[in-house]
Amino acid sequence: MPATAIVGINWGDEGKGRMVDLFASEYDVVVRYQGGNNAGHTVVNRFGKFALNLIPSGIFSAGVRNVLGNGVVIDLEHLCGEVGRIREAGIPITPENFFISQRAIICLPYHRDQDVFEEERLKGAKYGSTRRGIAPVYGDKYLKKGIQMGELLQDDDYLRARLSFILEWKNLFIQNTYGKPPYTVDEMLGWLRTYGDPFKEYIHDVRCMLTRAQRAGENILFEAQLGALRDIDYGIYPYTTSSSPLAAYAPIGSGAPSIRLDDVIGIVKAYSTCVGEGPFVVETFGEEADRLREAGEEYGATTGRPRRVGPFDAVASRYGVQVQGATRLALTKLDVLSCLETIPVCIAYEIGGGTTRDFPFAPLLTGARPVLQRMPGWGTDVSGVRRWEDLPGEAQRYVEFAQDEMECRIDFVSVGPDRDAIIRR
Ligand code: GDP
Repeated sequence: MPATAIVGINWGDEGKGRMVDLFASEYDVVVRYQGGNNAGHTVVNRFGKFALNLIPSGIFSAGVRNVLGNGVVIDLEHLCGEVGRIREAGIPITPENFFISQRAIICLPYHRDQDVFEEERLKGAKYGSTRRGIAPVYGDKYLKKGIQMGELLQDDDYLRARLSFILEWKNLFIQNTYGKPPYTVDEMLGWLRTYGDPFKEYIHDVRCMLTRAQRAGENILFEAQLGALRDIDYGIYPYTTSSSPLAAYAPIGSGAPSIRLDDVIGIVKAYSTCVGEGPFVVETFGEEADRLREAGEEYGATTGRPRRVGPFDAVASRYGVQVQGATRLALTKLDVLSCLETIPVCIAYEIGGGTTRDFPFAPLLTGARPVLQRMPGWGTDVSGVRRWEDLPGEAQRYVEFAQDEMECRIDFVSVGPDRDAIIRR
């Protein structure tokens, strides 16, 4: 009855969705515990290729119950579209395999708009938000001005009163800060009814459900979004997300605060990528970077934005492993490195004349320079390899190097986006 978390060690986009899809059939429940539709998990399996934003990546595995926990923020309009796209591909989404916490917070149109208005106001100083309303909705959650999914089960009078109370305040802010027109109770109520009512029968007391699952000895998989370096507390603040993608938050954000994790599988990319603004010490430009970006198809699953790229960063990744409390690792996209003759890796940072192997406090990152070394490449396609002993020696040594640097065992090496393109060590 393991409770396992699958989490990102880096900046996100490590291939967590791909790993959840691989393992999901061994679990009874898959839970998303934080974030919203601001990042995409790409899953490629026999049903096709999917970019999941909110739906847990266990949705393709028969018999798995997929849950959006209380730590998630839900844009109902987006959820309607995402559910529709998955159903069109022939994957059922029903009250038997999809569950939404009554405590999850709804991301309303004014959250999205506020995100856009704020990025426009910031101009050159922008955060590089995905403009999906995530920071505003989490902000409202902690200001206690959010609306929870379970409130959709109340009548119109109740929701009108809640919206009036919130909009009286929100409109003051939107009008006076951004000079934009106010929102009306009628339009927001209409939006909640149009996009929220289809999910009424999916809304549950997830805490009870997970407690029952725990008592019955069922296997529970927690699926994180983004990565350690985007954590609101431990990430590169303020270039973080507004929630905690750490494994330690999984029990709280899922609805089962008393669950102890047995296993934390950290997902690490064989090189570094980063979307959005903020310091990225290993960022590389030029021909080698372009080759890596093209070979790895490093364009955001949600936004289509080109990802910033660089070599494997041992300093940031070791930190990621530590704050995630990873018990073992999966190294993804090793096949992409076949495009380089020699492979750069960052083993330390130079800051203010000194060298460090410890990940520095965010403001110090701006002046940090990567200490690089080069490892021999393997110059051959490894995407068809399925056994460790069939990997070229240079590729094995690269994996072992990354393992030693991160001080955590790499149990899985991914060599392609497909479900079965995996080497188990
Ligand atoms: P997530 O948010 O962590 O799930 O990651 P994304 O889906 O944003 O980005 C990972 C991308 O890499 C997706 O397009 C995957 O299909 C792809 N991918 C995952 N693992 C591998 C791999 O081992 N090799 C290659 N070439 N692509 C991979």
